[in-house]
Amino acid sequence: MKKIAFFDTKPYDRKLFSNLSQQMGYDITFIEHRLTPETVSLADGHDATCSFVNDEVSAPVLEQLHKFGIGVVLLRCAGFDSVDLKKAAELGIKVLRVPSYSPAAVAEHAIALLQTVNRKTHIGYNRTTKFNFNINGLMGTVLDGKTAGVVGTGKIGKIAARILQGFGMNIIAYDIYKDLNSGLHYVELDELLAKSDVITLHVPLTPENNHMINKDSIAKMKDGVILINTSRGGLINTNDLLDAVKAGKFRGVGLDVCEKEHEYFFEDRSNEIMADDAMLKIAGYNNIVLTGHQAFFTEESMGAIAETTLQNFKAYLAGEKLVNEVK
Ligand code: NAD
Repeated sequence: MKKIAFFDTKPYDRKLFSNLSQQMGYDITFIEHRLTPETVSLADGHDATCSFVNDEVSAPVLEQLHKFGIGVVLLRCAGFDSVDLKKAAELGIKVLRVPSYSPAAVAEHAIALLQTVNRKTHIGYNRTTKFNFNINGLMGTVLDGKTAGVVGTGKIGKIAARILQGFGMNIIAYDIYKDLNSGLHYVELDELLAKSDVITLHVPLTPENNHMINKDSIAKMKDGVILINTSRGGLINTNDLLDAVKAGKFRGVGLDVCEKEHEYFFEDRSNEIMADDAMLKIAGYNNIVLTGHQAFFTEESMGAIAETTLQNFKAYLAGEKLVNEVK
C-alpha cells in the first residue's frame, strides 16, 4: 500500500482524508508537526508528502525527501509559494496542487465580512450575550443603490460581483485582463477607488501589486468606505491601513488575511502574549473584523481539496498526465 506522510494535520483533515484514502487504497500517516528541515525525517519510508500553506518545502527539505526516494509533493492548497520549485525541478520531484476548490466559498465569506462590519453584528452579538440590548453605535448603511468596486474579476471576484448585484449595488470592476464577456463595467483603478462605497479585493498577490492598498490609494477612496480583503495580506500596507483607520477613514474593514499571517494563523495563540503591535491594533479597532484565513473553509471546499489531492497522487502513480502540476 502506498504511503503518504501528511504534515500539519488538523482534526478536520484527519476526518476528511481518512475515509477517502482508505477507499482509494492509500495509507496516510497523520503528523501534527509542520514540515520543516527538523521534521522532514518523519517522511522517511513514505511515497509522498502532503502539506498545507505553512509547511516549508524548502531546498533542504526537498534534498532530504529525494534521499528518502520520495518523488512527489502533494499540496492540499492552491498556493505554492512554500515550495522551492527550482530545487524540486532539479531533483525531479513533482509538485502537485489543488488549483481551485470553491470560489463561491471565498466570495460568500467576503460578503459575510462586509455585512458584519457594515451592520456591526460582531458588536451587537457581544452585547446581547451580556443582555445589553442597547443599539446605540450600531447604525449601519443600506447597500442597495450604492457602488461596489471589485478588484480582480477571476473566479472569486465574478461571484462576489454577482452577489453584490443581488443586494442592488452598482458594480464597477478593475482587472489587468478585462473579461469582456462578463457583462461587468470595467474602470481604471483610480476611478474604482474614488467611486466605490465598498471595495473588495480578489487578485492574487504578485510583485506588481504588493501593497496596492497604501497611503496614496487610501487617500483616493471615499471617506466612510468599506474595504474587504479575502485575497492575500500583502495587497495592503498594514501600517498605512491602520493609520487611516485611526484617522476615521473607514466605515469598516473586513480581513480574512493579513501580512503577518504566516507567523500566527492556524494555531491557537490565545494563551500567549501578543507582542505584535499591528496585530494588537487590528484586534483592537472595533470597525475591523479579522478572520484567520477561513474563507475557503467549507464542507464543499474541504471535500474537493481531499478529492483532488488524492486524485493527483493517483495520476502520479499511474504515470498519467499531471494536470495539476506546478512547474
Ligand atoms: P483567479 O486567478 O480566478 O482571478 C484572479 C484575477 O485577478 C484574474 O482575473 C487576474 O487577471 C486578476 N489580476 C491578477 N493580477 C492583477 C493585478 N495586479 N491587478 C488587477 N487584477 C489582477 O483567482 P481566484 O480564484 O479568483 O482567487 C483570487 C485570490 O483569492 C487568490 O489569488 C488568493 O490570493 C485568494 N484566495 C483566498 C482564499 C481564502 O481562503 N482567503 C482562498 C482561495 C483564494
